[in-house]
Amino acid sequence: MTFAIPTSQALYARAQKVIPGGVNSPVRAFRAVGGTPLFIRRGQGPYVWDEDGHQFIDYVLSWGPLIAGHAHPKVVEALTRTAQEGTSFGAPTRLEIELAEMVVDMMPGVEMVRFVNSGTEATMSALRLARAVTGRPKVIKFVGNYHGHADAFLVRAGSGVATLGLPDSPGVTPGTVQDTLTATYNDLDAVRGLFEQFPDDIAAVIVEPVAGNMGLVPPKPDFLPGLRALTREHGALLIFDEVMTGFRVHPGGAQALYDIDPDITTLGKVIGGGLPVGAYAGKAEIMRHVAPAGPMYQAGTLSGNPLAMAAGKATLEILREPGVWDAIAARTQRLVQGLQDAAAAAGVPVQATAVGTMFGLFFHPGPAPTHWDEVKRSDTQRYARWFWAMLERGVYFAPSQFEVGFLSTEHDDAVLQRTLDAAYEAMRELAQNPAA
Ligand code: PMP
Repeated sequence: MTFAIPTSQALYARAQKVIPGGVNSPVRAFRAVGGTPLFIRRGQGPYVWDEDGHQFIDYVLSWGPLIAGHAHPKVVEALTRTAQEGTSFGAPTRLEIELAEMVVDMMPGVEMVRFVNSGTEATMSALRLARAVTGRPKVIKFVGNYHGHADAFLVRAGSGVATLGLPDSPGVTPGTVQDTLTATYNDLDAVRGLFEQFPDDIAAVIVEPVAGNMGLVPPKPDFLPGLRALTREHGALLIFDEVMTGFRVHPGGAQALYDIDPDITTLGKVIGGGLPVGAYAGKAEIMRHVAPAGPMYQAGTLSGNPLAMAAGKATLEILREPGVWDAIAARTQRLVQGLQDAAAAAGVPVQATAVGTMFGLFFHPGPAPTHWDEVKRSDTQRYARWFWAMLERGVYFAPSQFEVGFLSTEHDDAVLQRTLDAAYEAMRELAQNPAA
């Protein structure tokens, strides 16, 4: 490494004494790329600065929420104004309705919304709801899809579980996962087979409609329509986990992009504008099963928190300004094309993919992977070297190939050009020195 990070190193040593692994979420520890994680001191627009004062163009963006960049003036203003009037009441507020109305307006499959505090809570509650509505126990999830860390979903999961190679987490009992069935992503026959095997037992199929926790893997054209048809045919619900894709692959989520009508949608990340939020949402007829409207219990001391609602609302307002979302998506396309060109110029086999404002980068000969067994053939060591080569040039990509990158309104053409200049150099370095 060509730049010194003594402060991050000291903080990491200190953190490891009081926080397991020194981090509050595993992928932050840089295990997949080696070295010391950078401790971030502040962010502004498309940039973050580490504790040693280095500036980086940020393509992690808190793993997706910051679609308006860091510390956007409108988000900061909304937060400041809200905080001055109290940060939590444990009582209903106007802001919750306003944000729920915006989500209903933007997402075609959503008629009602229940806010929670994380994506994990959203998917966990959505599964309980699907089981409550159907009276059935089982759920189908896809290998390499990640739905948060609730026990039922820690089976062949993506994100940090894949990055760290944890098979199934210790502490998850066989009883908790006995009703979780797994299938290969993009493989409708596998799903059909499970429905044939368990015709009356499957409450729901949960899917990342664009997979973003094993790198970026788009659905094949027949995959999502096929899931919709199969679930309908067998009386099961279709849960779109749009925690990551919501407002990112299209302003109305993957359901708008692919014109699929899921029964339940889970949300997080962007709807919190950088504060801790999740939501599960869907058809009124289904959501009316949730307490106190119905019998399915779910609650939260801080749910619908005013600060989180204010940040989410300000963020969605920014996104809804004409042309704003399209501009981010166009730049994402330009970035991915540039990365692909940089790799080609250096003769490095790379598959760069984008959907909307999310992108992925596989060090993998073509064609791009379509499911986990193909994804995992990617060259993780080469990715690690790419990650550090870019970091040294002031660009912060995800510290694992099995994550995706994100753009914001603040990643303008100049920021993109700086990224691509760095990428050409970094790819050349990788090609010249393949085993370093
Ligand atoms: N679902 C998906 C698709 C996600 O990407 C994530 C987080 N990356 C989650 C659920 C879990 O969300 P959280 O980390 O907020 O619990």
